Amino acid sequence: MKVKLWGTRGSVPSPGPETQIYGGNTSCVTVSTADAFIVLDAGSGIRRLGNDPIVKEHKVIHILLTHLHMDHILGLGFFGPLYNPAQEVHIWGPASFNHSLIDRLNRYLSPPLFPVNIRELPANVIFHEVTHGFFEVNNLKVYANYVCHPGPTLGYRIEDGDSSFAYIPDHEPALGLRNFSEEPDWTSGYAIAKDVDLLIHDAQFSDEEYERCVGWGHSSISHAIRFAKLANAKKLLFFHHDPNHTDKQLAKLAKKYLKQQPYNAEIGQEGKVFDL
Ligand SMILES: [Zn+2]
Ligand SMILES: [Zn+2]
Repeated sequence: MKVKLWGTRGSVPSPGPETQIYGGNTSCVTVSTADAFIVLDAGSGIRRLGNDPIVKEHKVIHILLTHLHMDHILGLGFFGPLYNPAQEVHIWGPASFNHSLIDRLNRYLSPPLFPVNIRELPANVIFHEVTHGFFEVNNLKVYANYVCHPGPTLGYRIEDGDSSFAYIPDHEPALGLRNFSEEPDWTSGYAIAKDVDLLIHDAQFSDEEYERCVGWGHSSISHAIRFAKLANAKKLLFFHHDPNHTDKQLAKLAKKYLKQQPYNAEIGQEGKVFDL
């Protein structure tokens, strides 16, 4: 199973000389095997992925959306394979009580916000509403569960038999838990990340910034480390970087918090590949 990062930034794309190292595109990660191709979230990073030769190798592409905040669907209309009539694209996303997944995505993918209506896309697009539970994508076993973040939001765990990977880009497990990171059964996202080989987790804020943003649905870098420790993840990638954090600031913050809590962790970097 190969995991590649196409967009690591949170909230809004932030390209520029000060974000060149870790990247300015918003959430997009691929998981690929010989038979299966999964895209996690459709942030602005998915546009470049759409032009990559790897998408031509897969007649069927599965896009798993964690939730429908703009930074996670922004690139969807710019994903090249959706304009290829020979392509089959499955879009999986969180179910909601009020409206179907396609109706909620249509708010953005329709005029006046976007020139093309989602139903007019040339590819064969199939929608799947996801709730808590398991499903399969070719040889990959996927487990989805709701996590603590405003609006219906999922985290995903993907297993191929030998290795496991968890993706929880927007997550505030510390919210409302006085003993955060001491009670696994009461910690949001624990079952998704338990014992995984690689965990991609929200690490948007410094400790000071988090104090000002409690309830916004995100973690501090130190919370991400504590969550990874609790879940016993073998490796952690800091993800959903704050758009205002420069490469220099990110490196400084990661160094500071990893000194306080040593862990096998690094800053998620656009373009990086992990072989699990
Ligand atoms: Zn986000
Ligand atoms: Zn969000």
